[in-house]
Amino acid sequence: MVKQLASYEDVALKLIRENGGYMLQKDLWKKLKLDSREGSRLVARLVKRGLIKREEVTVNGRKTFKLILAKSNNSDGLLVRVSLRSILNIPCTTCPIIDRCGVGNFYEPSTCALMDSWVSKIASSRKLAASTP
Ligand code: SF4
Repeated sequence: MVKQLASYEDVALKLIRENGGYMLQKDLWKKLKLDSREGSRLVARLVKRGLIKREEVTVNGRKTFKLILAKSNNSDGLLVRVSLRSILNIPCTTCPIIDRCGVGNFYEPSTCALMDSWVSKIASSRKLAASTP
């Protein structure tokens, strides 16, 4: 019988998380009752999606793999997705002096009129959105 590996993904991530964020590959397969072919495919899917990393280790003289939960996979098991839409129009993306701008430099974000205007515009649009019923 072919197992639906997608249904094992969340359980695998939960087991790794509960084990402190890492687990030997063979231990995960054993807990999930998967054979090496199914286990390898499951791990490959999780690695491909960036949910875990795979690191070669030697245990009792035998090479195996340690599965490590990716940092982006937070403690609740949820992926945190961040939208970059809010910063697409940041003035720095087209600023001709960006290479000279920085904290402590003559040009710096805290005193930049373009940055100030951009932040004010965002703040007013947020206030508008918050006050709209
Ligand atoms: S903070 Fe102002 S000066 Fe600095 S890179 Fe951005 S737009 Fe340019």
